This record gives sequence, structure tokens and C-alpha cells, in this order.
Amino acid sequence: MIAEILCIGTELLMGQTLNTNAQFIARRLSALGVSQYHQCVVGDNEERLEAALRQAIARADVVITSGGLGPTLDDITKRVTAKAAGKELVQRPEAEAMVRERFRQLGREMTENNLAQAMFTPDSTVLLNEYGTAPGAIVPVGGGKTVIHLPGPPWELEPMFLTQVEPWLTARSGRVLVSRYIRIFGMGEAEVDHRLRDLMQGSNPTLSPYCSLGEVVLRATASADTEAQASDMLLPLLVETRLRLGKVVYAVEEDDGGSLAKSAVAALAARGFTCATCESLTGGLIAATLVEVPGASAVVRAGFITYQTDTKTLLAGVPAEEIEKHDVVSAQVAMAMARGARERIGVDIAVSATGLAGPDGGTQEKPVGTVYVGVSGAKGTYAIPLRLSGDRMRIRQLTVKHALNALRLEAMK
Ligand code: ATP
Repeated sequence: MIAEILCIGTELLMGQTLNTNAQFIARRLSALGVSQYHQCVVGDNEERLEAALRQAIARADVVITSGGLGPTLDDITKRVTAKAAGKELVQRPEAEAMVRERFRQLGREMTENNLAQAMFTPDSTVLLNEYGTAPGAIVPVGGGKTVIHLPGPPWELEPMFLTQVEPWLTARSGRVLVSRYIRIFGMGEAEVDHRLRDLMQGSNPTLSPYCSLGEVVLRATASADTEAQASDMLLPLLVETRLRLGKVVYAVEEDDGGSLAKSAVAALAARGFTCATCESLTGGLIAATLVEVPGASAVVRAGFITYQTDTKTLLAGVPAEEIEKHDVVSAQVAMAMARGARERIGVDIAVSATGLAGPDGGTQEKPVGTVYVGVSGAKGTYAIPLRLSGDRMRIRQLTVKHALNALRLEAMK
């Protein structure tokens, strides 16, 4: 099955709205093993939408549209699709009931033009929109092709896709797809590719990488008649991948909701360990990221935010002469910060971070992006020197990831 995403809205073309719907749908489609060769964004213009729609219908089995389902004149998606299919829009009583019910729930007066939201071609399957007023639809457009209409707002589109479109797609493909997400930190995409190239060439199961900030995620997907068969097919691939990559694999999960913080908390909890942080350039972000994880209260005890130099001494007891001697951005100070937090807060492991997030403050010897992550545990104290690139936010976020990864690895020692 080939699918194509067609997002409608002038605000998307102008860059006023980030096209998160395309990303969401594309990721779900690839998790389902549905092929995608093109994506399209078109403004609220009838002629251009019709051309884009006809082209998409010609080259894909299923076209998924987002946006333009509302009651106003520029909401043209359904009308143009009906025209392309050579059909008429008619008032659909079940859709009208949905729209009326939504207005009743919202306690809003329904104006007549809202009934346009209940118009679909006679053979469409209407999709319930639990979070907005515009229902969606699965629209047969002839030649065995289908157009699926979803509303623009992501909080409406996403649940509709998951609960109504995915089951339709899976039933149509007649196969069960099972995916696992292998999350990697500490190895670049090129190296991962080099080590796994032969495994990535398989067609069932498939292994495909994508990157997020400082991380590589591999999605392993198997297609079979039953879920058990598909899971069995994945097992050797997962084992082999882990074997070849080693400790840089920090999670293998059924969905792509894994995170370094989750793995760090799990690793600490498995050993009954507690932790603390002492942060400079990250200003509390390491601790904040850890406590986003449900259950973090069992392992996270406290954190120091020692942003100005003298507070490293005040809170974490870093000797002033150490700072004077080695500079505040140094391995020695990072280690002293971690050791100080570990001893003063009384935890098994503490992590620290000191560095230059920029944009100012860099020197030839220590450019912006110079960061030291300190780790102190029962087995000793050490620092990880880093040279990170990017803007201030990226440097701080990457520092958080390195610190969480160090925490995870220390807990597993
Ligand atoms: P409504 O009933 O709200 O009018 P609609 O289906 O007509 O729904 P649009 O009017 O096209 O949707 O878009 C509504 C809002 O949804 C946009 O202003 C924008 O904020 C958001 N939106 C639309 N398309 C996308 C997209 N592709 N990605 C992210 N957000 C989007």
C-alpha cells in the first residue's frame, strides 16, 4: 500500500504554522509499514488543491489530507475531493448528529453554516472528531483509491488517526505489523550504519534509522500473519543489533516514547540507588528532565543550581582554590561539583555539568561548546570532556543528554 500526505493551509506554506501533522502521520505510516514516496503542502486555493489532489490520487492508493474541513468558505478540502471523484456532497445525518452533539457539549450556539461540516459524499465513512466540531471521513474516490480527510488541529487529528485511521489501514493491509524502537546515545548515525548495514538491507523485518538531538533511533518492524509471529521474527534482529552496538543502546521499546531520563531512572531504581545533580550551564535542566519521568521520586533526591562561580563553593563545597587553579570550566571543577553534591546530599551517584553555552565567553583554548560532565559514584569520580556544537539551547540540551547517559551507565556498573 502506498500512501501520500497532503496538508492544506496557507499558514503552512507561509511558515506561520509548523507542519507537525505531516510528521505525525508520516511516522505512524512508516511504523505501520505503509510506503510513502511523496508529501505535499498546498494553500487554501481550489485550483491548486485540485491539481495536487489529482496528482496524489494518481500515484498513491491512499491520500491522507489534513486541514480545511471547517465551516468557512476557505475550507475547501471536501468539495474539491468530491469534484475530483466526480461525486456530490450530501448532508449525512450521522455526521450532522456528531456536529450538533459537539456544539451541545461545548455549550455553544450552532450557526447554520456549521452544517457544511456534515456534508460528505454518499459512500464516505464518517470519522468521529471527539475534540473538535469537524468530523473526518474515509472517502472512496474510484479506481480502488481512497482519500482520508482529517481536521487541521493536531489535538483533533492525532487521536482520530490513532483510533480510527490506523485500524482501517491495518485491516486493509491484511497483515500484522509489530515494531520495536532501539534508542542509541553515544554513537553517530554513520557509525551505526557502518555496523548494521547488512541488517538494514532486509525487507522483513526492516531496520531503519532516524535521528533526533544527539541520538539515533532504529525502528525494527516485522510483518506477519499474527502478532506472535511478527514478534518472533524481530527477536534475532534485536539481539544481533544489541550485540553489535553494545552499551550505546539505552532502550528497546514497543513505542518511540523512550528517553535517556527514563532509562537513567530505571537503571537507578533497579539497583535501589539515589542520585543528585549539581548544574551550572544547564541551570536545573538535568534534574527537571529526570523528574519528568513518573517514579523519579524514588531515585532523585535533590539538585544544586550553582550558576555563578562562588555558588559552586557555597552549595557544593568546591574549593575556591580548585576553581582559581583550573578555571571554572574544567574537568577538576566538574568532578568537585559532582563529589560535593554526592557527599552533601548523601546519594549513591551525583552528576554535574560546567561549560560554555555561549554565545559569548569562548576563547581559543576553550571555545563555546566546551563542557565537562562530572560523575561521582561509589567506584570513583571522573569527568567527561565534551566539545558540543550548535546554539546555546542545543549545547544545553546535549549536555543534559550526556549527563543522563553518564548517570545511566554509572548506575549499571
Ligand atoms: P477547523 O474546524 O479548526 O477550521 P480545519 O480542518 O478547517 O479545522 P484548518 O482551519 O485548516 O483546520 O486548521 C486549523 C488550525 O490547525 C490551523 O490554524 C493550525 O493552527 C492547525 N494546523 C492546520 N494544519 C496543520 C498541520 N499540518 N500541522 C500542524 N498544525 C496544523
